Amino acid sequence: MFENATFCVTTFGCQMNKHDSERIAGLLESLGASPVETVEEADFAIYMTCCVRERADERLMGTVRSMKNIPVRPGSPYCKRYVAIGGCIGQRDGDGLFGKLPNVDVVFGTHNMEDLPPLLQEAVEEGRQRARIADGRAEFHDELPEDREHPWAAWLPITVGCNNFCTYCVVPYVRGREISRPIEEIEQAAREYVAQGVKEITLLGQNVNSYGRDLYGRPRFADVLDVVSASGVDRIRFATSHPKDLTDEVIERFGTLGNLMPALHLPVQSASNRVLEAMHRSYTVEHYRELVAKLRAVRPDIALSTDIIVGFPGETEQDFRATYDLVKEVGYNQVFTFIYSKRAGTPAAEMEDDTPREVIQERFDCLVDLVQESAYDRNQTEMGKVLPVLIDAPSKRGEDLMMGKAPRNQTVHVPIPAGCSLEDYLGRIVDARIEESRRWYLRGVLVDGR
Ligand code: SAH
Ligand code: SF4
Repeated sequence: MFENATFCVTTFGCQMNKHDSERIAGLLESLGASPVETVEEADFAIYMTCCVRERADERLMGTVRSMKNIPVRPGSPYCKRYVAIGGCIGQRDGDGLFGKLPNVDVVFGTHNMEDLPPLLQEAVEEGRQRARIADGRAEFHDELPEDREHPWAAWLPITVGCNNFCTYCVVPYVRGREISRPIEEIEQAAREYVAQGVKEITLLGQNVNSYGRDLYGRPRFADVLDVVSASGVDRIRFATSHPKDLTDEVIERFGTLGNLMPALHLPVQSASNRVLEAMHRSYTVEHYRELVAKLRAVRPDIALSTDIIVGFPGETEQDFRATYDLVKEVGYNQVFTFIYSKRAGTPAAEMEDDTPREVIQERFDCLVDLVQESAYDRNQTEMGKVLPVLIDAPSKRGEDLMMGKAPRNQTVHVPIPAGCSLEDYLGRIVDARIEESRRWYLRGVLVDGR
């Protein structure tokens, strides 16, 4: 029934959602539907949603409400555009979403991706709203085809779900308990990706470091890194790491595995032990500092990034100063800063929270200034170096430029050589000498002009 239909998948939120979106696109394409870039051109508008912070909720509501004004595309086989909501908001709200957003036709949960086509079909044929939300165990959707955004880069989920229950976070409630994918399957998937020409594999999980805990403790995440490295892929990255579970073996791999990129996202959230305890993070700032020191001993040029929550209930000026000082001390390449957002059903939502909004905003702004300085300083250290860049897109900074990622994850812009086109370079790793470094990007020239 999808042969003449078009669809557009819009993704909010994390890499896991981006990966799920690639599976949804692959599934609909395998049934004959065609992907399109914009909602205007689509018969089926599918939203993969996030509910980690209130802002993401609001964005979805605004976007979906405003869709009522977009006319049906010319040539559509249907008399209306169908709207489907999946991902974390779908899982959380289920058919309750129909009350908030009457123009939604289908809601599907995080464990129900394969149910989307039959639900759409029922919505079209029966003209009624359909929802399916399973409470069941989290699972891997490797049986679903995928339509990767870039043929040369693949996400590879190694765990799904989360058991940590940080007190501010909804993820364990919407993604379920953590399960690890068997290492043989991971190895097989990595080898298949390499055979397909994939250059970069990003291993995914809410906390990849606790991989294997449900497999009687063996194999561990370091073993996963070993098998993926042995696949011969050019680049390996992974996200996210929880500091409480980052082992010496994994740290050591940054020194021994040549294709493991020297970049690590290690969310600290706060540098006050009192706040960390209230967040239920299960590590101290002293432990975190120790991890940073060990990482830098093994790989002095490693790029570190982190997440910080500002304004957690009860955060004092002193708590915030501790966080500010840590950010200054570590010298991160990138810091994702979030203002605490109260999420219904989490323990932190019940905690006393009397810090005025303006104070929290001031703390946030002050941290953002520091983060920008730190990113600038880090990028200065790249000047004059030759970096391998995986070209992945046209540059937004000029028509004769292309851009890609360096090992430490910086965006690098380089000129497209005369007589060549972007297509000649997409998915290739080229050497670029860095000649300009800004806060959020680098500029280089191709070594040997190629
Ligand atoms: N599993 C990952 C990512 C979780 S969500 C991890 O543990 O690091 C990504 C980030 O969103 C978190 O690291 C945290 O900084 C932020 N976050 C989660 N819940 C939040 C909330 N209620 N308010 C503000 N930020 C939040
Ligand atoms: Fe949320 Fe904590 Fe799990 Fe990350 S580790 S997903 S912050 S509960």
